Amino acid sequence: MFEGKLIVFSAPSGSGKTTIVRHLLKQEHLNLAFSVSATSREPRGTEQHGKDYYFISLKDFKQHIKNEDFLEWEEVYRDNFYGTLKSEVERLWAQGKHVIFDIDVAGGLRIKRKFPEKTLAVFVKPPSIDELKIRLKKRKTESEDKINMRIAKASVELATAPQFDHVIKNYDLQAALKESEELVANYLNVEKKEV
Ligand code: 5GP
Repeated sequence: MFEGKLIVFSAPSGSGKTTIVRHLLKQEHLNLAFSVSATSREPRGTEQHGKDYYFISLKDFKQHIKNEDFLEWEEVYRDNFYGTLKSEVERLWAQGKHVIFDIDVAGGLRIKRKFPEKTLAVFVKPPSIDELKIRLKKRKTESEDKINMRIAKASVELATAPQFDHVIKNYDLQAALKESEELVANYLNVEKKEV
């Protein structure tokens, strides 16, 4: 079976990693597919089951843990579990794709440790904690309480940046998108696309 590479993007919530991952997925020459995680949290806004996440109950999530179905999982926030199902990565490899992950810092490092030879682990760094707060407030998807919970976690997560293969500073989005594209293309040994 084709076993592609694993491209992990991790960062504190609000750093812009999801925007970067979406941009990379649009670059056909990179041949990437998104690893849809399972989560026990409720869907937000326009999120769809099977596209953004596999939304499952806490009970089902715990059953998957017991069955050892996960490549990695984390209780990212209290009672909000997130995890990568082994079957998801196998499904995407079977399609001949490299797999890209938008997951939290601990999960990202876990994947890197499991597959050191085939993982590019990238940390996306926000300009500052204050800027993170502003971005999360603008997004208007979380309550004040939840925003504070995410900010508290962000400080701890920032300290793990040196453990990643590469740190991308997301101070200017266009620059961060370009840098990410070049980094991934380089890692995958993909020719630059014609402009
Ligand atoms: P959100 O609730 O904003 O969608 O995600 C919260 C955090 O969980 C984000 O940092 C996101 O990247 C992370 N996350 C999403 N899926 C996974 C996963 O499968 N495993 C881990 N460890 N974290 C995940």
